[in-house]
Amino acid sequence: MDVCKSIDEIREVVKSLKSQGKRIGFVPTMGALHEGHLSLIRQAKEKADEVVVSIFVNPEQFGPNEDFESYPREMEEDLKKCEDEGVSVVFAPNRDDVYDEKKYIRIEVDELNRHMCGGSRPGFFEGILLIVNKLFNIVSPDVAVFGQKDIQQFQIVSRMVYEFNHNIELIMAPIERANDGLALSSRNKYLSLEEREIAPGLYRALNYIEKQIQGGVDTPSLLLKHQKSELEAKGFKIDYLDMFDKKTLQPVETLSKGSEYILAGAVWLGKTRLIDNFLIEL
Ligand code: AMP
Repeated sequence: MDVCKSIDEIREVVKSLKSQGKRIGFVPTMGALHEGHLSLIRQAKEKADEVVVSIFVNPEQFGPNEDFESYPREMEEDLKKCEDEGVSVVFAPNRDDVYDEKKYIRIEVDELNRHMCGGSRPGFFEGILLIVNKLFNIVSPDVAVFGQKDIQQFQIVSRMVYEFNHNIELIMAPIERANDGLALSSRNKYLSLEEREIAPGLYRALNYIEKQIQGGVDTPSLLLKHQKSELEAKGFKIDYLDMFDKKTLQPVETLSKGSEYILAGAVWLGKTRLIDNFLIEL
């Protein structure tokens, strides 16, 4: 497995693989790899001949009061996991390799950014598009795999690929969960033992709401309100918990047959922000 730090190095390696006719699969990550990331790598292996994984805690997608400094960094363990999964190349640049001190150009996101995580984390998706756009140009993969766990990210990146004509196939991999339903996340490491016990409550609430909707509830606002109160009573602080149109990412009040929705929630448990979602097809 090659480990590349510089842009020149990774470009050389990818160029050589491509000259051998290899199809390149790409999995961008911020490291502290868990089974969720590994499932993305496995999907990429199915779709491509060689897999490139990037490991970079992207400062541009963290707000000033967010957890950039404390975000888990486990490079040695991550490299071992990548090696065990048969990854061909890891791209692990330093901040200065990727960003100049001053940036003159930004990508703005329109209404796809207004709700869900975009609504509560100003600049978050602009920061993501900045790094994903760069990584796509640096790695130039044929196919890239992202997780449904960050479904708004997937939808916005898909739109960027479409609008900016990146010639890259995007794949969305399902959410990997712990046995009790909690969506795996690098941030789960922040949870105390007690919080970890409570944490699957978000998944359970989404699961319950989904069952009610599949059972015929078509105006879920009361149902959502009730589940929010239940979560609050358990100790969660609600950022959002709502139904969104899958394509526009706008909240929806009334559900109709033949449509696709995202039931999504973000909650705080102490200092940890948890997100989760279900895709609902009616
Ligand atoms: P991150 O390292 O958090 O930036 O995540 C890197 C990629 O892994 C993103 O595409 C995430 O959506 C995906 N991912 C994170 N957690 C999970 C999970 N539990 N299941 C599937 N994919 C995940």
